[in-house]
Amino acid sequence: MSSGHTPAPIDIAIVGGGAAGLACAIFAARHAPQAHIVVLDGAKKIGAKILIAGGGRCNVTNQKVSCADYGGGNPTIIKRVLAAFTVDDTIAFFREIGVDLKVEEHGKLFPTTNKARTILDAMVTEATRRNVIIRPAHRVTSVQLLDDGFHIQTSAMNLRASKVVLAAGGRAMPKTGSDGSGFQLAQQLGHAMTPVTPALVPLCLTGDAHTTLSGISQDVEIVVHADGAKPVRVTGAMLWTHFGVSGPAVLDISRYWHRARHEGRSVNVTVNFLPGEDFTAIDRRLLDLATQKPKAHLKSVLSHLLPARVAEVVLGELEIDGDTMMSHLRKDLRRKLVHALSSWPLSVHDSRGYAHAEVTAGGVVLSEINPKTMASRNCSGLYLVGEILDVDGRIGGYNFQWAWSSAYVAGIGLKSSLV
Ligand SMILES: Cc1cc2nc3c(=O)[nH]c(=O)nc-3n(C[C@H](O)[C@H](O)[C@H](O)COP(=O)(O)OP(=O)(O)OC[C@H]3O[C@@H](n4cnc5c(N)ncnc54)[C@H](O)[C@@H]3O)c2cc1C
Repeated sequence: MSSGHTPAPIDIAIVGGGAAGLACAIFAARHAPQAHIVVLDGAKKIGAKILIAGGGRCNVTNQKVSCADYGGGNPTIIKRVLAAFTVDDTIAFFREIGVDLKVEEHGKLFPTTNKARTILDAMVTEATRRNVIIRPAHRVTSVQLLDDGFHIQTSAMNLRASKVVLAAGGRAMPKTGSDGSGFQLAQQLGHAMTPVTPALVPLCLTGDAHTTLSGISQDVEIVVHADGAKPVRVTGAMLWTHFGVSGPAVLDISRYWHRARHEGRSVNVTVNFLPGEDFTAIDRRLLDLATQKPKAHLKSVLSHLLPARVAEVVLGELEIDGDTMMSHLRKDLRRKLVHALSSWPLSVHDSRGYAHAEVTAGGVVLSEINPKTMASRNCSGLYLVGEILDVDGRIGGYNFQWAWSSAYVAGIGLKSSLV
């Protein structure tokens, strides 16, 4: 494609060829087969995030999806959009384009091939089959509203379009092409933003206890206590790493730590190493064990409740001798230990930031979007879909489901607007 001005306006220009942009192109093309649709993407190769998602297997959606699985400004709008294109619709859509999905642990759905490439290839094939033109290496630098549509400047060419869809994602993992420039385009077109932070991101700890535990994974309950806010609890696996902690529970809780910090609240994070049991239950458990196994060493008893190395670190930090026999464990030390097991402080000083985040929390304010069409209420002819909006899902396929659902709604909206 040569540079310069394209005189003939196209019908729909989609900014961003990620999950939401590609899906939107397909749905718009299905509903409005005559429409001239172009997908513009800044990256040299599209679909980087689809390819790395779910460890290269792409966790496309989840068996159970509800608005409770999402953070973001407006649950009513999120619910409405999700209801317009459900998990069953997602499964049917992928089947239609030749991809069978299978259910795994925690209700996660993956392609049966176990390859994210299957998802990307099927979507690109379907889009191309429906005459959608995909233009990689076309980074959009400005979108200007005119009397009769939009003028779009890209790094490779300029063009005119009757309708524009912003599907440029957020700021998470900018090397994939989603560098937050979509937020600026939305703001230039009259949209407000809620503050953005990384989400689904590992957390960095001070001290060095975590380095000795690096590689150990355990089931925990993590609690974020922010000043003046209800504590947020997440249960799941936590992985100790050389920099701090990661794993699904940590990723899920990270948005709340970031939000609290952003709002200037003092915030601390604690871990219950025995999820489902509170102080009283754990105390009772240790008392019972002391009765059942009076001669057992404390460290050996603890190693049946949590990973032995974690137990060692806990006992070391509390300066309790692990060789103490259960029957000899003093009440004050037992209670100190129970407190530590149920509420172990994680000294979080930061997260690993956007470079390692799976998603961006915050974004374009949802109330400025019509949830029946994903059309902007502020700029006629503009549509917004996917992660650019103030919606972030937890781990488990929820972010892609948001991409598919919002793309579908926009596809319907675009059809009506072109008629
Ligand atoms: C490592 C990783 C693993 C993940 N795994 C999963 C998972 O298994 N399941 C799940 O549900 N979610 C997962 N996610 C989240 C999910 O990938 C995103 O929420 C989803 O891809 C968002 O789709 P989107 O189309 O809105 O944005 P993106 O996928 O970010 O796509 C935006 C596109 O817009 C382009 N773009 C940006 N700015 C411009 C511009 N100015 N001009 C032109 N093009 C532009 C980008 O190059 C990009 O191609 C993962 C994310 C990461 C980073």
